Amino acid sequence: MIENHLPTAELQRLDAAHHMHPFTHGDALAEKGARIITKADGVFLTDSEGNEILDAMAGLWCVNIGYGRKELAEAAYRQMLQLPYYNTFFQTSHVPAIELAARIAELAPGDLNHVFFAGSGSEANDTNLRMVRQYWAMMGQPDRQVVISRWNGYHGSSVGSGSLGGMKFMHEQGGMPIPGIEHIDQPDWWSEGGDMTPEAFGIARARALEERILEIGADRVAAFIAEPVQGAGGVIVPPETYWPEIKRILAKYDILFVADEVICGFGRTGNWFGSQTYDLVPDIMTIAKGLSSGYAPIGASVVSDKVAGVIGKGEFAHGYTYSGHPVAAAVALENLRILDEEGIVERAGSVTAPYLGAKWNSLTDHPLVGEARICGLMGSIALTPDKARRAPFAADKGTVGLICRERCFANNLVMRHVGDRMIISPPLTISEAEIDLLIERARLSLDEALDIVNRDGLM
Ligand code: PMP
Repeated sequence: MIENHLPTAELQRLDAAHHMHPFTHGDALAEKGARIITKADGVFLTDSEGNEILDAMAGLWCVNIGYGRKELAEAAYRQMLQLPYYNTFFQTSHVPAIELAARIAELAPGDLNHVFFAGSGSEANDTNLRMVRQYWAMMGQPDRQVVISRWNGYHGSSVGSGSLGGMKFMHEQGGMPIPGIEHIDQPDWWSEGGDMTPEAFGIARARALEERILEIGADRVAAFIAEPVQGAGGVIVPPETYWPEIKRILAKYDILFVADEVICGFGRTGNWFGSQTYDLVPDIMTIAKGLSSGYAPIGASVVSDKVAGVIGKGEFAHGYTYSGHPVAAAVALENLRILDEEGIVERAGSVTAPYLGAKWNSLTDHPLVGEARICGLMGSIALTPDKARRAPFAADKGTVGLICRERCFANNLVMRHVGDRMIISPPLTISEAEIDLLIERARLSLDEALDIVNRDGLM
């Protein structure tokens, strides 16, 4: 059962003693002991106790291609032997970065033909923040410095990208947001829509952008950044009226649009990019995660002819040691080849998304589930004690969500909770039988969570 590693308890002890985890209460984890994942194949993880766990989150929304694809390992191996590292500074380049940039330009919509590489989504959004400001400075409008983003959006965890994000609990630590970033409210109808119809609410939340632009002065606004569908905020699929109105406003005031496709990109919404699903025309697109299916760390800013044409006229004083890392680029190229040639993105949109969507929506007959939302292969359900009123629980926000997540874990299903929303984002390769298993385990976990909620009077 245990292969080539120390016993679980010893691993947990060492983990608690030496390993600081992201977004984790350290002492609480040390007391409980981390779940240790040792290997994975397809959509299943195996832990150090031999449990087989269905990963309905594709890691952190990234393993689009599924686990265990040897071709990606072989691509990394070959590239490491050939050229393990070289940089792209100082007028040099290398084959994997060139080929990957060209391939991304081919796949990306519109005139997004230029790629600035980074090591992650956070880094790419830091690039974007600097690039949009530099663009306007070079256009002779240096006062256009403000970037507008949304509360409960997520754009990364570095100081720049964390400031772009709208996670207040992050801002409270470490002096964020930095100056020059303004947040508007999100299009989350379930929690914030009050008595409005979703359609009217979508318009209202888009108009919040126009109001803020006018408050700041359009001649001071550089860009608006947003995820086509907010992921880490709880898979908030916006009302249909939202994006068309945002597009109208951005065009009216000539404001750059950065589409953060770190989650939505590479098939997640049923098309190659979320911008295609919502008919958006970004000036810059942030990509990461599905670009390499998480097999190697890599991100990028995909930049339009319009913006790259201006930035290219001077030296953009920005870059990372690992911008376009050859091994990560080779892995990403192989990942894109497989996603394309095996028709994985195509099938995700035309076959898997409708199947998963129907099953996911059927969960709304459960007493704990209010709305179900899904876009392609990213979905959420809102837990509530009262569907008609869309009411929150008496317990603190997130208490019931956490109970439900714990039951999922116990039932060998990785489903994440954001407050009292449960979210999924499985590998695009998930089969229909695996979707059935996902839903079966989710339903069982919801039943068990309901028992606990009733027992503990949390309604
Ligand atoms: N943007 C979005 C939309 C994300 O979901 C994430 C990561 N969850 C990031 C940016 C940051 O990416 P990374 O963690 O690779 O820095």
